[in-house]
Amino acid sequence: MSSTVPKTNGKVPLDASLLTIEVAGTLKPIKTDYMLVMTFDPLTGWSARNQTLCAVSALALDPASNCFQYCTNVFEGMKAFLDPDGKPRMFRPEQNMARLVTSAARMALPCVPAMFDPDALLVCINKLVSLEARWISALPDHALYIRPTMIGTKPSIKVGASDHATLYVIVTPVGPYFQSSSGGVSLLAGGEHVRSWPGGTGGFKLGPNYSPGFVPQRIASDFGYDQVLWLLGEEKQITEAGAMNFFAVIEREEGGVNVVTPPLDGTILPGITRDSALVLLRAHAADPAKQLLALSGSKPVYIEERVLTVPELAAAAASGTLLECFGTGTAVLVVAIERIGDVADPALKTIADIGTSAGRGLGPVGQTLWDKLLAVKEGREDFHGWSVLCE
Ligand SMILES: *Cc1c(COP(=O)(O)O)cnc(C)c1O
Repeated sequence: MSSTVPKTNGKVPLDASLLTIEVAGTLKPIKTDYMLVMTFDPLTGWSARNQTLCAVSALALDPASNCFQYCTNVFEGMKAFLDPDGKPRMFRPEQNMARLVTSAARMALPCVPAMFDPDALLVCINKLVSLEARWISALPDHALYIRPTMIGTKPSIKVGASDHATLYVIVTPVGPYFQSSSGGVSLLAGGEHVRSWPGGTGGFKLGPNYSPGFVPQRIASDFGYDQVLWLLGEEKQITEAGAMNFFAVIEREEGGVNVVTPPLDGTILPGITRDSALVLLRAHAADPAKQLLALSGSKPVYIEERVLTVPELAAAAASGTLLECFGTGTAVLVVAIERIGDVADPALKTIADIGTSAGRGLGPVGQTLWDKLLAVKEGREDFHGWSVLCE
């Protein structure tokens, strides 16, 4: 491979053909057995000896490692589902690889194209998933959660970019994410804490974007809410719901519904579920006759990626035009938001108490997206080749 890729200066690029499998001695009764580990050294590249699938074990790192001191940690979240033939499939995995490269670049971690081929990494992840396929339950909405992680391992406390890195991928079996009886979640809006801001890093999947959210999350829990509704600025722009992208369905005066989600302005994590929902909704809106989404034909759907504020949402709720709110993400797929409270109001006035229908509490738009996305993820239906076999 290095002969076809110039500019590596004798260093070893990330190369799926170098992957070795260290067979685990005893397979475990619970949790998964294998992980993928690769290390990058600025002098030698991705160590040929160290591109391995090996038994899950602790990492030994210098305590001065850049990741411990300056949190140069980035990650991805993916899932593999079993298809009707019992074969594992991943959903748009090249999107996760592309986002991982973007995140690593934002953290100044080593990921120049000649050395870091996301397709090669994907081949290795495929092998890991195939090895661990026995952990995937065939029950609906059960999957193997896949957590690619890249950390800066430069062994120095000097403030600066890490030219060393460890890339590892761990997996764990998962079932449905939120298991509240109603199926929906409640959100506490506002407060003094902000998740992301213009010019910040909210648009990247960086570890240090999440830990500052733990205190506000605890406050939300103390008030009896499931998650934080992240807001930005005086206007109370809605950015995200917990670690999910936010959608609202609002009835239009002229007939039909607006499906509104905040735009990718750098403060919003560009969710692959968000993008997939928008692609499906736009395809449906362009040709409802195709019945791509099983939405009753009577209500045309309009997609709006735009700023949405709490006052607008509250007004829609008060006038009865707020039909649905839901969050999207790999972990939850699509989850109903059934109640939003405001921390700025001492009485915790409910901004929106969203009427939800049966099942998971989702309304027609959310439920339709859930059905379609899960069918594609589980390989029961095809859409644009989004579901990819692991072999
Ligand atoms: C990962 C994540 C999402 C969802 O992204 P998907 O690609 O759909 O899983 C949304 N918001 C935040 C803050 C996230 O970290």
